[in-house]
Amino acid sequence: MSKILLGCIADDFTGATDLANNLVRSGMRTVQTIGIPGERLQTQVDAVVVALKSRTAPRQEAVEHSLDALHWLKSQGAQQIYFKYCSTFDSTPEGNIGPVTEALLDALEREAPGFTIATPAFPDNGRTVFNGYLFVGDVLLHESGMQNHPLTPMKDSNLVRVMQAQCRRRVGLIDYRAVAKGAVAIRDRIDELRKQGVQIAIVDAISNDDLIKLGPALKGMPLVTAGSGVAIGLPANFGIAPSNAASELPRASGFRAIVSGSCSAATNRQVRAFSASGGESLRIEPLQVARGSDVVAEAIGWAAPRLAQRPILIYSTAEPAVVKDAQERLGAQRAGALLEQALAEIARGLVERGVSQLVIAGGETAGACVQALEIAQLRIGPQIDPGVPWCHAQPTVAPDGLHLALKSGNFGSDDFFTKAFTLLT
Ligand code: ADP
Repeated sequence: MSKILLGCIADDFTGATDLANNLVRSGMRTVQTIGIPGERLQTQVDAVVVALKSRTAPRQEAVEHSLDALHWLKSQGAQQIYFKYCSTFDSTPEGNIGPVTEALLDALEREAPGFTIATPAFPDNGRTVFNGYLFVGDVLLHESGMQNHPLTPMKDSNLVRVMQAQCRRRVGLIDYRAVAKGAVAIRDRIDELRKQGVQIAIVDAISNDDLIKLGPALKGMPLVTAGSGVAIGLPANFGIAPSNAASELPRASGFRAIVSGSCSAATNRQVRAFSASGGESLRIEPLQVARGSDVVAEAIGWAAPRLAQRPILIYSTAEPAVVKDAQERLGAQRAGALLEQALAEIARGLVERGVSQLVIAGGETAGACVQALEIAQLRIGPQIDPGVPWCHAQPTVAPDGLHLALKSGNFGSDDFFTKAFTLLT
């Protein structure tokens, strides 16, 4: 197996998919792994994104897992490391973005004197950085609602200050003027900052054009830290251009099913649209599960004779008032956990009965299903809707391969459930 070019460490699962999706669209064949792989890569690729759960983990644990991921990626030949975090720079005053960045810089220092950039800019998704201030759409980060986030409230929009508070190393800024002039000016600015003792630089970017200009300036930099936006400018450094070949997956065949545990507005619309278009569906009630009735066996029994005909949908998706009622009766945590487990067992049962094209709606639901299916590696394929690609895995339960689409809550158009299968055929 030949060596990979770009090794990425993502601080959460859906963030990893977001980055992998951008890399594939820019021409890099990409695998996402769930945690640090204990095994070799199953296919030959240009980039690997290791998905960790380090965003809100205790700092020491986040650092240790990130270093383990670094060592694994290096052992696969990664020439450049990309630490990926959220485009709203989700972190607390203590980290984990700063501490993980510095630990990676320390570990890579043998290769080159430590310097890296940090920018969550992703203009396509409305995240721009100007004079070091992060905007979410038209408003500053600290006015975007993120100031009220339950785990990582972002009360300061000045990323130089935010990052400096988390770092021992000095933090500086590569502003929009340097970025607008292109790679040479950006490199000059980096040299200037280094002379001033700065080792981490926030980078302004207000358009995709800025990210494309930034790309060549990062060639050969051992560590890049960013949201998923910077990825669009990196593949060219390795002589890779956008092409459809990067998203090619093995041919899809076998039965098709959708499992949905998301109660987001978009998913509610998608469930309604699927039924309205004549799709057959079965609803799982949380109270049924709590009473101990065997909803898994019932659901599989319902699905089995239908699978050969057309795609089926099994869902617990419900409108907010219905969800609230169930949560009041069972407790929100318990209702969620019971349904996640039931839907994950149903997903596994469906795959055991020949489903090999599976759409899963809901971030937490998808996490539970991926775990139940014992999936460790996902090859990233074509995008169905922004942020949601088809993936391919080869877990023990599906030795001939399994096509998976993991859709987090509010992603996807109303006809997502039918569109997804059309794209695959
Ligand atoms: P999203 O990506 O839309 O946030 P998630 O799967 O991450 O979806 O989260 C949805 C949560 O709601 C899960 O824990 C799921 O088990 C739970 N849930 C799903 N259906 C219901 C329901 N009918 N009543 C209460 N909780 C539900």
